[in-house]
Amino acid sequence: MKIRYFDHAATTPVRPEVIRAMVPFFENEFGNPSSLYTIGRSSRRAIDDSRDKIAKAINCNRKEIYFTSCGSESDNLIIKGIMLANKQRGKHMITSKIEHPAVLNSCKWLEKNGFDVTYLNVDNTGKISMKELKESIKDDTILISIMYANNEIGTIQQIGEIGKIANENKIIFHTDAVQAVGNVEIDVKAQNIDALSMSGHKIYAPKGVGAAYIKSGIKFEKLIEGGHQEQGQRAGTENVASIVGMGRAINLISNEFNEYNKHLRILRDFYISEIEKKIDIAKLNGDRFDRLPGNANFSFKGIDAEQLLLNLDSYGICTSAGSACTAGSAEPSHVLLSIGLKEEYIQGALRVSFGRNNTIEDVKFLIDKIKLFIEKYKE
Ligand code: PLP
Repeated sequence: MKIRYFDHAATTPVRPEVIRAMVPFFENEFGNPSSLYTIGRSSRRAIDDSRDKIAKAINCNRKEIYFTSCGSESDNLIIKGIMLANKQRGKHMITSKIEHPAVLNSCKWLEKNGFDVTYLNVDNTGKISMKELKESIKDDTILISIMYANNEIGTIQQIGEIGKIANENKIIFHTDAVQAVGNVEIDVKAQNIDALSMSGHKIYAPKGVGAAYIKSGIKFEKLIEGGHQEQGQRAGTENVASIVGMGRAINLISNEFNEYNKHLRILRDFYISEIEKKIDIAKLNGDRFDRLPGNANFSFKGIDAEQLLLNLDSYGICTSAGSACTAGSAEPSHVLLSIGLKEEYIQGALRVSFGRNNTIEDVKFLIDKIKLFIEKYKE
C-alpha cells in the first residue's frame, strides 16, 4: 500500500542527500572529533562546517551554536541553564500556556526548585497579548520563553515584537523554534532573539540531533557533566554523522526556501479551502494567516478524531489527532483547551502537516477519505 504521509510536524523522512552526506562518518571518517590524528580532525572540521551552516541560516555567530541530542534537550539547556546561572539577578520567567512539554516541564522543574513562572494566556487563535506580556514583567524577570510557532495549531507568534519588549526591558528572550526553522525566515539579530531551540528531525535530518543558539555573553549552566565538548557546555562525544546531516539539511532547505514554502502553502491552502467547502462541521483551529505554511488543524465537531485517524491509516494515510507528544495520552490537548475549544471540538481535532514529497493528488485522496468517514459517521 502506498503511504501518504501528512505528519511532518511529528517528524520528517531523512532526505537522500542528507543520508549521502552522513554515510562517510559511519564508514571511513569515523574518528572521534577530539582525537588529533587526521580522521579525528576531519570529524572536527565536519562538525564546524555544520555549525557554520546552522549559524548562517539564523544569522548568528558559529560560536553561539551548541549541538544537543534533540529539541527537548535544547529547551531544557536554555531554560534551566539560563535561570540557574542568573539566579542572583532574579528568579522570575515568563512563558505561555501553549508551549511544548519540553518547555512547560522545564518550567515546572524550575518552580519545584524555588523559581517563579508566569504562564501567559493566548487568544482563540493561539497568540499571546503584548499587553499581558508587558504587565507580567517584574523587577526580577530574567527570561521570556515563547515558542515561534505552535506544533499543534501552527500559529506563529509576533516574535519581532516580543524580542523588542524583552530587549527594552533587558530580559533574555528565548524562542522554541523547533517547528519554525526551515518553514519561516529567522534572523536572530533583527528579531532580538537571544536563545533559540531547534531539532534535526523536523527538517529532513535524523532524529537524535538538535542545536541551541545562545547569544555570546549570556551565562548558562551546563546540564551534562563530562568532557570539554561544545565549548565545555555540553559534554559527550559528538553525534558526528547526525550533526553533519543536520547541517546538510538546513543548507538544502535554506537554498530552496522560496520554492519549498510555496509548495507547502499551495497544499495547505487547497486542503483548507476544500475542507471548508465540503465539510460543514469543520472548524479551522489556529490563526488563518499567521500560521506555518504546512500546518492545517481542523476540528470536526462531534467526531472522534482518533477513530478518524485510524480509519485514514487503513488507507495508508498518516495524520495526527493532537500532537505526537500527547498522542496516546488520555488528557485533552492543553493547546486546544487554552484557545477555548469545547470538548466536542477538542475530541474532533485532526492535524495535517504537509511536506516536500506530498502532491495535490495525495491531498485530494486525503480529503475524499475524510469526507467519506464523516458522512458514514453522521449516518
Ligand atoms: N518543541 C516543539 C515546538 C516541538 O514541536 C517539538 C517536537 O515535536 C519539540 C520541542 C521537541 O523536539 P525533539 O522531538 O527534537 O525533542
